[in-house]
Amino acid sequence: MSDALLSEDERRFRDSVRAFAEKEIMPNAARWDAEERYPRQLLRRFGDLGWLGTAFPEEVGGSGGGAVMYALLCSELARGSAAIALGMYVHTALAGAAVLHLGTTAQKQAVLPRALKGEIALCWAYAEAGAGADVSTVATRARREGDFYVLDGAKLYITNSPFADVFIIVASTAPEQGLKGLSLFLVEKGTPGLAVGPHLRKLGMGASEMAEIVLQGCRVPASGLLGAEGRGFIQAMKVLSLGRVASAAFGVGLGRAAMEAATAYGRDRVQFGQPIVRHQFVRFTLADMATRLEAAWQMTLHAAGLIDAGLPFDKEASMAKLFASETCAWVCERGLHLGGAQGHMRDSAAQRYYRDCKVIEIGEGTSEIQRETIARNLGI
Ligand SMILES: Cc1cc2nc3c(=O)[nH]c(=O)nc-3n(C[C@H](O)[C@H](O)[C@H](O)COP(=O)(O)OP(=O)(O)OC[C@H]3O[C@@H](n4cnc5c(N)ncnc54)[C@H](O)[C@@H]3O)c2cc1C
Repeated sequence: MSDALLSEDERRFRDSVRAFAEKEIMPNAARWDAEERYPRQLLRRFGDLGWLGTAFPEEVGGSGGGAVMYALLCSELARGSAAIALGMYVHTALAGAAVLHLGTTAQKQAVLPRALKGEIALCWAYAEAGAGADVSTVATRARREGDFYVLDGAKLYITNSPFADVFIIVASTAPEQGLKGLSLFLVEKGTPGLAVGPHLRKLGMGASEMAEIVLQGCRVPASGLLGAEGRGFIQAMKVLSLGRVASAAFGVGLGRAAMEAATAYGRDRVQFGQPIVRHQFVRFTLADMATRLEAAWQMTLHAAGLIDAGLPFDKEASMAKLFASETCAWVCERGLHLGGAQGHMRDSAAQRYYRDCKVIEIGEGTSEIQRETIARNLGI
């Protein structure tokens, strides 16, 4: 990938994440996927290395940097294992960033320094059985009772929830107002009325863990309200700027891993008297992979650069996320195809990449939602 325009600091950072991913993540990625567990100690390692604090200010325990640095982190981790990158991103770009942007000083100090060291794990609980793309259908309720809010409902598909210490929960404080009645709550593990269901099995991203969260008369102190009552979710959508850029970066990192695996296989595999990379169809497929991934990466860096420059980024972030996730899906499918029967085998990396890629088109706003956002920005 062409990173020619990165600064010296950015390049050094990219190289250190890449070296870590190659040494500590890649050799274990298949095992973690098969075991369906997130190696929780990795969050601690990332915290020690200062990586969880990327794009967080020093006063809350962050290490500075911005969206470009964060994109480099996501891309290099996803090249090692997309599932590892996913758990890290939920912890930082969703839950951590919500606390950073919407939290009171007390909330930030209670959560962020420990979270950015990896001492505690965070999750972001928005989705429900009936609430996906349409956020106005959130059914979890929060009603005020004296100095508490009482939460009732259930959250589904919540990454990191099996080992999370702090849950950011989206609940409605004014059901009749739909989206405008949605509030955010900081809820600690062990709060009576909060229960995490059994591990949910997935097609891909095996090494990330998810579960359902059930809230039954869960009493949260009023000081756990994050952001303004009835406005928290809308506020969060305005300030959580890293999400789509992070997803785009996952797509590029995972796509690169798939392309590298396909290239290595194609150099070794001999058919018709020569390595299959000598056959024009294979060469052209690899050339198309490289071209599309390069375009996706430049779009990702551009969107991240806009965020860092404080410029409007909504359209460009959606374009990068849409293009990178669909490119990644295409590259992973073609990568498996170039592996023939070997790619189809359960122990091949190609099949893991093929299973992992799909969710990047679904999470953080599906491709259709990104197209809606782009069209809206075009004034259509
Ligand atoms: C691996 C994984 C991890 C996840 N982690 C989390 C997490 O940590 N926290 C969390 O809150 N959620 C999480 N989710 C859930 C995620 O937020 C939802 O999958 C996402 O919001 C989409 O909702 P849905 O799956 O219900 O799809 P739906 O909204 O039901 O959409 C189904 C299909 O209909 C299409 N569609 C819907 N509306 C429109 C429209 N207006 N126009 C055109 N097409 C439309 C969609 O694009 C999609 O193709 C995770 C999901 C997965 C798979």
